[in-house]
Amino acid sequence: MGAMTSRTIECWLTDMDGVLVHEGEAIPGAADFIAALREHERPFLVLTNNSIYTARDLAARLAHSGIDVPEEAIWTSALATATFLTEQVPNGSAYVIGEAGLTTAMHEAGYTLTESSPDYVVLGETRTYSFEAITKAIRLIKAGARFIATNPDTTGPSAEGPLPATGAVAAMITAATGRSPYYVGKPNPMMFRSALNRVEAHSETTAMIGDRMDTDVVAGIEAGLETFLVLTGSTAPEDVDHHPFRPTHVVDSVADLVDRV
Ligand SMILES: [Mg+2]
Repeated sequence: MGAMTSRTIECWLTDMDGVLVHEGEAIPGAADFIAALREHERPFLVLTNNSIYTARDLAARLAHSGIDVPEEAIWTSALATATFLTEQVPNGSAYVIGEAGLTTAMHEAGYTLTESSPDYVVLGETRTYSFEAITKAIRLIKAGARFIATNPDTTGPSAEGPLPATGAVAAMITAATGRSPYYVGKPNPMMFRSALNRVEAHSETTAMIGDRMDTDVVAGIEAGLETFLVLTGSTAPEDVDHHPFRPTHVVDSVADLVDRV
């Protein structure tokens, strides 16, 4: 009893933006950290709430930044959503608003994409929302389709300023239908639980690294993981105490974790 003791860490889950990369540039130490995981053959996954890209796209983008992550080691909210829906209704049907990251994941999970009486309306991140598509989604939900969204983020970052994200579009659909979506991505701990299943890891021996208290750290705690907060993203050291929960560890950056692998 008493002080928190460090557990043996066999497996690592890490957030992507703010931990490994920032606006397309590698964060110092990120490439070495991933290289150490691969050298020691540690099971690991890189997680992102962004559902625009496929794992293959993201692997290519990370490689461009100098970080060598195999596509199999990337877990997006789109993949988590497709996995969740497959467990709920195998080989079901969905009307999907989203990009290749989501439509590919749904197809590969055995789903039929249709506008005709689908089991689900699934909303993901896109940069080309159409009034027509949103109208269709609203009518299908009104007619009884279940409403799912990949991630609750209301804005995403860009060099020019914030962009409206999935949660903001979901709010519009909610206002028109009176139905709120079930969000699969962080801070739903299901994002981490499905990641653990994917690499056949156990929560007691898995650590997660993130840059946000209100998504990464809280979801990590709820999934039973040892949590590392890095200060290279959206959280400043003084912000940590403004939350009623705390991470297991606070470190400056992922560079501090290379020797812990
Ligand atoms: Mg992040």
